[in-house]
This record gives sequence, C-alpha cells and structure tokens, in this order.
Amino acid sequence: MSLSFNPDTLALPIGHFVGGKLIEATDGLDMHRPSDGKTYVHCPVADAELVNHAVENARAALKSSNWGGVRPRERTKALQAWADLIEAEAETLAKIEALSSTRPVGQLVAGDIAVTAEQIRFFAEFADKEGSDVVPTDDQTFGMTISEPYGVVGAITPWNFPISMAGWKLGPALAAGNAVVIKPSEMTPFSTVYIAQLAVRAGIPAGLINVVLGDGPTTGNALTGHADIAKVSFTGSTRAGSAIMENIARTGVKPMTLELGGKSPQLVFADADLDKAAAAIAGSVIFNAGQACVAGTRLIVEKSVADELIAAIIARMQAARPGPTWDAATQYSPIISGRQRGRIASIVEAAKTAGGECLTGGEEMEGAGYFYAPTLISGVTQDNPAIVEEIFGPVLTVQTFETEDEALTLSTHPVYGLASGLFTSDLSRTLRFARALEAGTVWVNRYSRSRDHILPTGGYKRSGIGKDLGREAYEANRKSKSVLISL
Ligand code: NAD
Repeated sequence: MSLSFNPDTLALPIGHFVGGKLIEATDGLDMHRPSDGKTYVHCPVADAELVNHAVENARAALKSSNWGGVRPRERTKALQAWADLIEAEAETLAKIEALSSTRPVGQLVAGDIAVTAEQIRFFAEFADKEGSDVVPTDDQTFGMTISEPYGVVGAITPWNFPISMAGWKLGPALAAGNAVVIKPSEMTPFSTVYIAQLAVRAGIPAGLINVVLGDGPTTGNALTGHADIAKVSFTGSTRAGSAIMENIARTGVKPMTLELGGKSPQLVFADADLDKAAAAIAGSVIFNAGQACVAGTRLIVEKSVADELIAAIIARMQAARPGPTWDAATQYSPIISGRQRGRIASIVEAAKTAGGECLTGGEEMEGAGYFYAPTLISGVTQDNPAIVEEIFGPVLTVQTFETEDEALTLSTHPVYGLASGLFTSDLSRTLRFARALEAGTVWVNRYSRSRDHILPTGGYKRSGIGKDLGREAYEANRKSKSVLISL
C-alpha cells in the first residue's frame, strides 16, 4: 500500500494531552504546511494554569502507579509494549508527522519511527539493571548509594525530527521511573500527542506522559520555571537554551540537559575515498534539506583533490528532486517556513556580496512550498556568516587547506562543537584528529547518526550540556542518594 495521502483529509489529534485525555482547543497559532504554504489548522497554546494542571497530573500519576517504585521490570514491559504499538501504528504516525513537518512520509516508517521504537526498547532494558553500590566503611557503619528517579521531568523538543526528539526525551525519562510533561515545537506538535495516546493504549499509566502545546515564551517558560519540574531536558537552538538556563536560574535550581545548535565541519584529506566522502557530504545537506543539528555544512578539503570532490558533490546535489512530504516518492524536503527560507536566502545573498560564489543552487525552487535548492558556496572567509552562523538549511560552504594545522584551524568553530566528519585512510591521522576535534561526535569515513543509539550524543562548547542517547541519557534521568546506617 502506498503511503501517499491527501493532506486535506487527514485527521489530527489537535489538543493538549493531560492525564490520558485530549483537551481540544480550536484557537491558537497559525500552522502552515511547509510543502505548499497552506494554513491548515491552529496550534493551541497552553498557559501557566494548563501547564500546572499537567504537572499536577504527572505527580498524581507517579504516586498512584508507583512507576518509579519497586518493580522496575513492569516499566520495561510497558515501554516495550509502547514501542510495539508505535511500530504497529507507523503508517498513521508517519502521515501525521509528514503533514506538519519537513520529513517525507516515505522516509518515516523504516526511518525515524522504526529507530524511535528501537530506542525506546533500548532504554526500557535499563529499567531493572539498576543496583545500589555498597561502599566501604568501618565495621560500625553500613554505607550505600542508591539511585532514584527525579520525579516529573519537563521536556521541550524542536520541529526538525519531532518523533525522534520526543523518543529521545520520553524513552530514558520513563525507563528511569519519571513522569514527563513534554512541549513539542508549535510547528510540529501532533505526532507527539499521538505517541502519548499510544502510550496509554499500550498500558503506560495515564498521566505519566502529558503533552502541552504552545510556544516558547508562554508554554515553554511556564514549564521550565515550574517549581515541581525536577529536571529539564531540552533540544533546540543555543539561543533558546540560554533563555531556558536564565529562567531556571531565576525560578529555582534544577538539573538540565541541553542539546543545542551546531555548525559541523567535514574534513577531507587527499588520501580519502572521495566517492564515499562526496556521498556523505552531499547527503548531509540533502537529508531533511540540511535541517539537522549535526548537518555537516562546512566542507574543508585538501587543495589537491578539491576540484574532483566538489564536482562529485555538485552532481549529487543537483539530483535532489523536491516534492510534497505527503508523496511517498519524495526525497528532498521543503524548508520548515517561509521565514526560515528567507533567512537562508539572505545569508546566501550576503555571502555573494562579500565575494562568495554559488557553485550550485543559491535560489528558491519553483512551486508553492518553501523549497530551497541545495547550495554550495566557495570563496568566503572564516568570519563570513555563511561559515559562522547555523543556517539550518541546504547550504554547504567549501574551504581548502594544505597542512593538517590549517585543516584544524579552519575546522574549529568559535562557539559550536556538536559534530565533525573526517575522511582519510591514514589511521594515525584519524586518532590525532579524533582527539583534536572539538566536537561531541566525530564520524570517520561516514557521516550519519542512524541506529547508533548505544553511543551518547551531545555537544561541546555552546552546542550543549549533557547527553542524549546511550547509558548517559538514562543516568541523567536519575539522581543518587548516599545512605549511612550506624550499626
Ligand atoms: P528553537 O530553539 O527555536 O525551539 C525549540 C523548542 O524550544 C520549541 O519547542 C520552542 O517552542 C521552544 N522554546 C523556544 N524558546 C523557548 C524558551 N524561551 N523557553 C522554553 N522553550 C522555548 O529551535 P527549533 O527552530 O525548533 O529547532 C532548530 C534548532 O534545534 C537548531 O538550532 C538545531 O541545531 C537544534 N537541534 C539540536 C539537536 C541536538 O541534538 N543538539 C537536535 C535537533 C535540533
């Protein structure tokens, strides 16, 4: 059966989801479909009172279900059942996601959704592996450290991979015994509501996952500043991450995980497999039209192979065919909004004014949706906004080097340190650069994150604090308590 669907007839769960019930609301923020620009529905906005209602429901559900309590295997089983149901409902979920977002429906079932189900199972398995550490003391004292959930976690997610980002937050928080109030992006909220509904159907007690819809200043602010939110887990821009830190500092002290922006380099040495490098680098800009935090958008290539590599990348970029996200054959995504496409265009224009040259792209694509052509810019200096700013679009810059020192200097970003790509066949150089690159992830001779959830992911410098995925993400959702008993 084809996954293609009619965007005008798809039913959406429009409302907040609190205590296992959908709270419908008809007014709110205008939502535009990226694929054709049409305004199709409103995103409700939860005020502080509704956020409080969600937090109270989460606390009540934790208490009545004893979710964080003594039988952790029950959590494992419930989360596994949820992952099964997410897979069983993958087609409906894919359509809800594709309608609002930039993710083509044909990439979602075997991609984002299958990976999310797998990641929930991965975290579910941690639930009953928790132990206490008995610590050495004198013979009159028994000492141990026990680990406990925080209570209610507040999660906030961006629009670029809505289901995946919800899974990254909900999986470890619930496995670790917490309840969650999650606020998805106001541009792509409904897939998060749908998976929360599936969680209740799968047997996760109602109230453990609550979804409040709305924007950052109203809903997000009320959530991060709520006195009963014990921990905040955020993914989004560095700008919003700073605002959240400020709000938390002002309203109380609580731990937070921040997964923020990036501007990742791709270093290619002359001894690399250039075909493989071209595929990975072009793919980084074409996939979701470069709207990925880890998109490797700064190509830094050894001068002797630059022309050959650039030609191979351009050929792949020019093959990208745009299409609406509801067409199962679509491979190349629109930009999330007209505003964001305008921002991309203005950075590209400024780069041209500053002497840069567009070797391909540099223009909007025809049609009603917010499409922008894959773009490759050469001839800009290290301080140009095209090199420094996170563009969050299909724009790659190219710079060349002749020595390793030059390569390292060019690759080091003043504020970001999310990911780096390295293409070389020299193992000593691989180890040298793996250490030297200032990034939370270094991919060597590949550039992608799919299905490696066993490894933690997160940023250096202003790309973030703490990790998602891996054991670290589970542990970040628990706190430790030391107990000393006088015998
Ligand atoms: P954004 O920061 O504008 O919004 C992200 C979320 O934060 C949204 O839900 C938004 O409503 C909310 N928000 C905004 N201001 C807030 C505030 N003051 N208080 C509370 N919540 C607030 O980001 P975006 O445009 O949705 O997503 C793109 C950004 O996300 C990029 O910078 C990208 O690099 C980053 N991102 C990072 C990762 C990662 O793993 N590091 C993954 C995906 C996206």
